[in-house]
Amino acid sequence: MLPRADERATDYLVIGSGIAGLYFALRAAEHGQVVVVTKKRPSDTATDWAQGGIAAVLGDDDSLQGHIDDTLLVGDGLCKPDIVELCVREGPAHVRNLAALGVPFERDARGEFELGREGGHSARRVAHHKDTTGHAIHAALFAAVERHPNIAVLPDHIAIDLLSMAKYGGEPACFGAYVLDTRSGAVMTLAARATVLATGGSGKVYIYTSNPDVATGDGVAMAYRIGAPVANLEFVQFHPTVLYHPHAKSFLISETLRGEGGVLKLHDGSTFMERYDERKSLAPRDVVARAIDNELKRSGADSVFLDMTHLDGAFVRGRFPTIFERCLALGIDITKQPIPVVPAAHYQCGGVVTDEHGRTPVRNLYAIGECAHTGLHGACRLASNSLLEGVVFGARAAAAVQHAELLRPAQVVPWAPGDATDSDDAIVVALNWDEVRRFMWSYVGIVRSDKRIERARHRIELMRQEIDEYYWDFRVTSDMVELRNLALVAHLVIESARRRKESRGLHYTLDYPDKDPRWLRDTILHQTDGPAP
Ligand SMILES: Cc1cc2nc3c(=O)[nH]c(=O)nc-3n(C[C@H](O)[C@H](O)[C@H](O)COP(=O)(O)OP(=O)(O)OC[C@H]3O[C@@H](n4cnc5c(N)ncnc54)[C@H](O)[C@@H]3O)c2cc1C
Repeated sequence: MLPRADERATDYLVIGSGIAGLYFALRAAEHGQVVVVTKKRPSDTATDWAQGGIAAVLGDDDSLQGHIDDTLLVGDGLCKPDIVELCVREGPAHVRNLAALGVPFERDARGEFELGREGGHSARRVAHHKDTTGHAIHAALFAAVERHPNIAVLPDHIAIDLLSMAKYGGEPACFGAYVLDTRSGAVMTLAARATVLATGGSGKVYIYTSNPDVATGDGVAMAYRIGAPVANLEFVQFHPTVLYHPHAKSFLISETLRGEGGVLKLHDGSTFMERYDERKSLAPRDVVARAIDNELKRSGADSVFLDMTHLDGAFVRGRFPTIFERCLALGIDITKQPIPVVPAAHYQCGGVVTDEHGRTPVRNLYAIGECAHTGLHGACRLASNSLLEGVVFGARAAAAVQHAELLRPAQVVPWAPGDATDSDDAIVVALNWDEVRRFMWSYVGIVRSDKRIERARHRIELMRQEIDEYYWDFRVTSDMVELRNLALVAHLVIESARRRKESRGLHYTLDYPDKDPRWLRDTILHQTDGPAP
């Protein structure tokens, strides 16, 4: 027998426990009750994995204008200048606030922030804690959340779909979500005055990704199904170097290794970057990712290598302790052996369209963090601007939700499992999941073409039909929820890439290799799938 479906209500429902969700929760809890649902453990987030740090103008030798200019330049014409400006202006206060909450940012002898410099930044402006900044931020935020009497966190709870007044004959306002307790199998109706998507990115759409398993694009998929527009999903940032090893899912090999002298090589030990860019292994991220992709396609090899063996072993161990230890545990001594690496999907620049308060066009629905499209990143993200975006818009949305008015039907229709039975066919999910991720990598990856995109399009449509039939036949599981979302996000990436007939920022297609001023606009997609369930 199915467990009894539950109903619960709160002021603010937050979906996701990364930097954006937790920062929002802490602020919103000052004026209302907050429930945070999160798929797995609260720390299972991209936030917890962030290595480099958070960008903000904190040094004497830096300026707000410098950070604005750098962001606009990298964004390649598609950033919204007013959003960039407000984010850069408000950022430093939030970083100081994180420090006040207990994040142990590195300090210099005067007690000022010791700032790192990263690619694309014209000054030192990255506040960090060793090479584990994200973990330090998450730990401090979560400790504060746990202490707060107005916040309840529900781990192992996955939001399935948003609740829409449209289903009850009203405008498409959102009043909460159906949430599956993955331990008991019960589906709860969680009603709220405002619902906040803080679900992170969608790296799992690709076979190689630096992202954690939770990054299946659920927020984008749920928002799209309820009628919210999504934008710029063709701009997927690929990190050039993620460890290639059967047991090392998603381990990032930081760009600083190349900064410190690491050299990219092929299987036979020869170098190749000189054929692509005069800066060789130090070329910008997207150039290196494209070069590696080309070499792998040309040779059919599984990986290329990042060679550190010519550098002093003690220096390498001291400078990169985490990477050294992790590789060693997998049998690779990076002071003696080159590191096998592949490029991997890293960051989703587009997302659910929001205004400067995190509001989507659907009433009472907000989106913050990586799942949102605010206009900060444009066609490419400047390093370390994403944690910044999480706190700036987390805080802004928390101020805005105060004015949300509860709109909900007198009686909410509970989740209908129908006559669904337990699916014993987990293999179907696994196969579909693997197939989507592989063809997205091959056809809509780093280098695209009309023909490749068409192939992907054909396959994803067939697969979505199959998944849909399967989805409604069986009792809901988190695997099915994720697969359905992954397939929808794949469809949205394909559609966005198909529309952009130029190469700009992170979108590179062989058929239109140059920038075209006629495409100096966002790619916005609206729902065509019919009403939300
Ligand atoms: C390896 C790595 C290194 C990075 N380094 C940096 C860096 O140095 N600086 C920087 O600025 N950025 C960095 N980034 C990017 C940055 O970490 C992310 O963009 C940012 O942390 C996203 O925060 P978020 O709160 O939006 O989402 P996340 O931190 O990813 O959190 C998403 C949350 O949503 C939950 N969730 C998702 N779907 C559902 C659902 N259906 N129901 C319930 N819960 C759900 C997840 O379980 C998770 O709790 C890095 C990313 C990676 C992967």
